[in-house]
Amino acid sequence: MHVLLVHPRSPKTFWSFDAALALVGRRVLLPPLGLITVAALLPAHWHLRLVDTQIREVSEEDWRWADLVIISAMIVHKRDLARQVALAKRHGLPVAVGGPFATSTPGAPELVAADFLILGEGEISIPPFVEAIEAGRSFGVFTADGQKPDVRTSPLPRFDLLQMEAYEMMAVQFSRGCPFQCEFCDIIVLYGRTPRTKTPPQLIAELEALNRLGWRGDVFLVDDNFIGNRRNVRLLLPALLEWQRRHDFPFAFTTEASLDLAADEPLMNAMTACRFRRVFLGIETPDEHSLAGAGKHQNMRSPLVESVGTIRAHGLQVMAGFILGFDGESPGAGERIVEFVTRTGIPLAMVGVLQALPGTALWQRLQREGRLLQADERFDEGVQTHLLNFVPTRPIEDIGAEFIAAFRQLYEPHVYLERAYRTCLGLGAPSWPQHRRPLAFLRRRPRWRPARLRGLLILCWRQGVRRPTRWRFWHHLAAIALRRPALLPDYLWMLLLEEHFLEYAGLVQQQVTAQLACVREGQPQPASGRCVASPATTSDASEAASDDLVSTAGSR
Ligand code: SF4
Repeated sequence: MHVLLVHPRSPKTFWSFDAALALVGRRVLLPPLGLITVAALLPAHWHLRLVDTQIREVSEEDWRWADLVIISAMIVHKRDLARQVALAKRHGLPVAVGGPFATSTPGAPELVAADFLILGEGEISIPPFVEAIEAGRSFGVFTADGQKPDVRTSPLPRFDLLQMEAYEMMAVQFSRGCPFQCEFCDIIVLYGRTPRTKTPPQLIAELEALNRLGWRGDVFLVDDNFIGNRRNVRLLLPALLEWQRRHDFPFAFTTEASLDLAADEPLMNAMTACRFRRVFLGIETPDEHSLAGAGKHQNMRSPLVESVGTIRAHGLQVMAGFILGFDGESPGAGERIVEFVTRTGIPLAMVGVLQALPGTALWQRLQREGRLLQADERFDEGVQTHLLNFVPTRPIEDIGAEFIAAFRQLYEPHVYLERAYRTCLGLGAPSWPQHRRPLAFLRRRPRWRPARLRGLLILCWRQGVRRPTRWRFWHHLAAIALRRPALLPDYLWMLLLEEHFLEYAGLVQQQVTAQLACVREGQPQPASGRCVASPATTSDASEAASDDLVSTAGSR
């Protein structure tokens, strides 16, 4: 049995980092961990081939080689998912679709042509699917029936199927689920509120596999909330530290955690000792009323500014997500987010607009209240540049305008440069031992490949010569090199990301403006594909919009 595993394309997102990755010779930020976990659950005698369409398209030879196609997709992939299913069917192949999108919306039109649906977590739903295939069945729906598997039985993901050099980071997962109850969150619907963790030896075996395959550098622990099960995290960290020490700290970790991390000093110290460098926090909004309404009570236990400061003081760089459009939100919410980000100096601040995801408590409440827009009226869920898919409690025009303004202000080149600089200067000293050898990063050759050096030269040309940021650029670079040399790679990485954020801010401006025009004219919304510009014109227009943003600071 020849199985083609296909990872669909996603539209440009805040996290796609396209323009920055292109400069350093990478194609994608993260590999499809779900798909390589599925691969590990398939019988050993099946022959597997993985195509990540963010790296290359499926070729005619791939289609001819395959007997069966398996696609795993999130909501953000749904457009390309439909295309891949159609292509597979055109080649006469049976198609199985799984992943969060199929699980949360099994009746979606994008799935109609699929022969098999694999719903829920693969550890439960893949074995009956395999049985059905081996028994010669040609269609079926395999579901975990709401059961959550014990992830201690989850196999080692098939990292060997990846084209590793195309990715900026590798991904592993220690836990699934989160104990909190944010109203808009689909994680707790999909993975439950009891965080299930792997064992420390299981995670170490995954790192060992990456190490054996030659990976060096960044690894993202893509847990829904890394500290959701603190007891087990405390068991993991000593084993992780011992492994990192034994291998001379080959990996730097990034993860996602809830803001109450700030109240646990021993945990933060244990994380930075293992070389955790970045943490993504769902801050959502500085408005207490909105946090309370969304059930995000864990963000209200301590003052937000202090919590962010505490985490940074322990040497962890903070990235954060913010949302506009909560019920009862007062005018100026976007301004307050910008003010908060500026005050706390969070360089990577993702601002988005609230969308109700299928199955969430928010979705159910809005349905009860009759506020969900009809399918042909609403903006696509899961697309970060799309507006709300329900009727908000304040004018959607105001929310859209604040969304655009927040991006323009946060990623204006001078402002961003200053924020990245202040962040590095204000970061506490992490406790991993290499940090005390400031130029140790120069020995880590994979980070300094020729493509990366070329990217840095282009960066210096754009930000240090052509744009009016030039004086600030060189001053800050010299100051970081002298005062925090160990942070120089992180600082340069943040500057590289500005190349993407400039483009993305342009995309937000162009797409939100188009959506607001639809709203004003009472036309169908972009989800129906009839109002917003076509993809080709969209990218041209977003480039024009980002040029406009750059031109406020000077030429490219
Ligand atoms: S803390 Fe994050 S993962 Fe947990 S319920 Fe809230 S939004 Fe979801």
